[in-house]
Amino acid sequence: MSRNIIQGTSNLSLGSGIATKVIIIGAGLGGLTLAQSLRRSGIPFKIFERDASIGARPQGYRIKIHSEASASLRSVLTPELWHRFENTCGKTVLGESNLNALNGAATASRKWRPGAGDGDIYSVDRSVLRHVLQQGLSDSGEDVISWGKEFLRYELCDDGTVKAHFKDGSYEQGSLLVGADGTRSRVTKQLIPNYSILDVEGVCIYGKTPITAELEAKAPALLRWISISRDEPPVIQGIVQGNDTISLLTEPMRFQSAYQQRYSEIPSDYVYWGLIMRRRVVASSDEELQDVLRVPGKALSMEITSEWHPSVRAILEQQDETYTSAIQILSSRPQVPEWKSDPRVTVLGDAIHVMSPAGGVGACTAIRDGFVLGAQLAEKGVGLESVAAYEQRMRQYATMSLQRSLAGGMKMFNQPPFDQCREVVI
Ligand SMILES: Cc1cc2nc3c(=O)[nH]c(=O)nc-3n(C[C@H](O)[C@H](O)[C@H](O)COP(=O)(O)OP(=O)(O)OC[C@H]3O[C@@H](n4cnc5c(N)ncnc54)[C@H](O)[C@@H]3O)c2cc1C
Repeated sequence: MSRNIIQGTSNLSLGSGIATKVIIIGAGLGGLTLAQSLRRSGIPFKIFERDASIGARPQGYRIKIHSEASASLRSVLTPELWHRFENTCGKTVLGESNLNALNGAATASRKWRPGAGDGDIYSVDRSVLRHVLQQGLSDSGEDVISWGKEFLRYELCDDGTVKAHFKDGSYEQGSLLVGADGTRSRVTKQLIPNYSILDVEGVCIYGKTPITAELEAKAPALLRWISISRDEPPVIQGIVQGNDTISLLTEPMRFQSAYQQRYSEIPSDYVYWGLIMRRRVVASSDEELQDVLRVPGKALSMEITSEWHPSVRAILEQQDETYTSAIQILSSRPQVPEWKSDPRVTVLGDAIHVMSPAGGVGACTAIRDGFVLGAQLAEKGVGLESVAAYEQRMRQYATMSLQRSLAGGMKMFNQPPFDQCREVVI
């Protein structure tokens, strides 16, 4: 149990549960990482998640965990859970090939030799990671995650606490409310009323393709390690419609078979894929975009890639359609905004720095947030000093992640500069 758990609350005549409790909105990767950190330091918390269950909605499949994020996870997890994390990851083969999507030939390929400080890199299935992060959250066996609880708004109370109000009419009171509620965060909207994000004009259709003998025979180049297959526009279309590259990112997820039998959360081996393009490639109006997002369907990915080589297209042809989804790509502005820190409310992850998946660092940044905030709360107690210190640090590394995501978006789908993007009010 940490010392000095709550600052400036000595006059509170509240039950200790309320006076020290951290309320986390959202059981995504950032919120769950924070919860693990709080559990380790003995700070009471409760998580409220809008989804009815962990698998209620597809949110992407393979997540690349880079060094800072893996170090963060290692710090917040018990040794047993850390082993479970490592054992349930896909086998990471470090390397990348770029292919010409039209003929399937390699245009660049290199084994990746991590440099000093690169640390450990993992490929993990998102739902497996969420499963691991939910383990052991309560020593007493008490249910610390409430599912099907939609947060509506918060209220700063005269007694120094904060109250979270939910759609079902209930509320929860605590000392600190953390908005880990993703892209269109209601916590952020109330904390920073003029906060807006940007429509970076991208669409990502993503899914899973089972690894079968047939796929191994048809698409060997895409079953080695990360691949990016690129399709540049022909000259006239480039001039008339824009220089819109279409990219297919793929990575095989092969799990350790011994652990596949031991941990029921591990799925069968699959290839994770994400087809990233400028929105105008698939939709010429907002209505058309909504149709694409609602029912991405196999037919659409096959149509977009009709000229591609069969060895690349095989991944899309053999997709398991039940897992195919699409998202509109949104991003925060390149600088995480400044706001006056409030000792009772803060935000983390996509709630304050959503970024294009083209950089592959959104989840890593959310995980780091959970670790940094948890460490500050453990060290300094719940209060202004810890919240402000977390926010200041987060702004620095999250801004770097946003820049990396822009660079990835420019290469993968001709993402326009931030100052040319339309504002989306959340
Ligand atoms: C296709 C794809 C691939 C990606 N690949 C990578 C990758 O390889 N590496 C990487 O680092 N990042 C990747 N990302 C980005 C990554 O998924 C996100 O940045 C990350 O999930 C953010 O975590 P989070 O906890 O902040 O938010 P989320 O994961 O979005 O979690 C927020 C949670 O809050 C809940 N919630 C929302 N509103 C409410 C409410 N009102 N009340 C209660 N609960 C609420 C949601 O249901 C959700 O469970 C990828 C994203 C996509 C779409």
